[in-house]
Amino acid sequence: MSIDDIRIVLVEPSHPGNIGAVARAMNTMGLTRLSLVRPRIFPSAEADDRAVGSIPILRSARVVGELMDVVGDCRLVIGCSARARTFPLPELEPRACAALLVAESAGNDPVALVFGTERTGLENRDLDLCTHQAVIPTGGGISSLNLAAAVQLLCYEIHLAAREPGDATAARPARRPSHPIAMETFYDHLERALDSRGFLEGDLREATKTKLRRLFGRARPSPSELKFLHSLAKMIHAEGE
Ligand code: SAH
Repeated sequence: MSIDDIRIVLVEPSHPGNIGAVARAMNTMGLTRLSLVRPRIFPSAEADDRAVGSIPILRSARVVGELMDVVGDCRLVIGCSARARTFPLPELEPRACAALLVAESAGNDPVALVFGTERTGLENRDLDLCTHQAVIPTGGGISSLNLAAAVQLLCYEIHLAAREPGDATAARPARRPSHPIAMETFYDHLERALDSRGFLEGDLREATKTKLRRLFGRARPSPSELKFLHSLAKMIHAEGE
């Protein structure tokens, strides 16, 4: 089994030094696939300096404009954030997070681990594309680690989990879940159907949409289950009424 399919994604990294340090952190643990969403400065000499022997990871990094460009075909997308959210995703500590990534990448499906920008972290709209949230437990007064330190810690756990994939396979879902592009299409369809019935009116519109997203997101429906959900949405849709 290879852990090479695991994509490490940095959303809007603002310090080039951190990008280099992330490449180094990945390399020490055998991970190679780095993606950067709207990096502020890249490529840069500072990133190269901090990469120490890991420059090939920087050279082969994928640079994209939207998070969806990297995670659109991933069935498992884990967003790393220390912050609790109003509408929480299923939470994992690093060990369980690594076990799940290793188990699900074994089926050769791409999987992704997403990190936020240094100052403000992942936005809710980024987490909306994630299936889970990873939280590194901390002990002191500060709950957020430096970006490269967080990547190092998770990559270390992935390396350990890949050496002993034993218990991880238990976590693999029985059916292959749909990927985010298909889920987004369903959420759009559901929204149109519910709108046609006036279900999403008022102040709670966005909150209701997020609650439904979390509910269906937890279920991780397979493509055939999603087809079934599309039929339900079609039934709900009040055409010409
Ligand atoms: N102030 C930001 C923290 C940014 S640290 C915030 O409030 O979210 C940069 C990134 O490192 C975060 O977006 C997250 O992906 C990761 N990270 C740092 N500490 C973490 C922790 N305790 N648990 C999970 N991810 C963490």
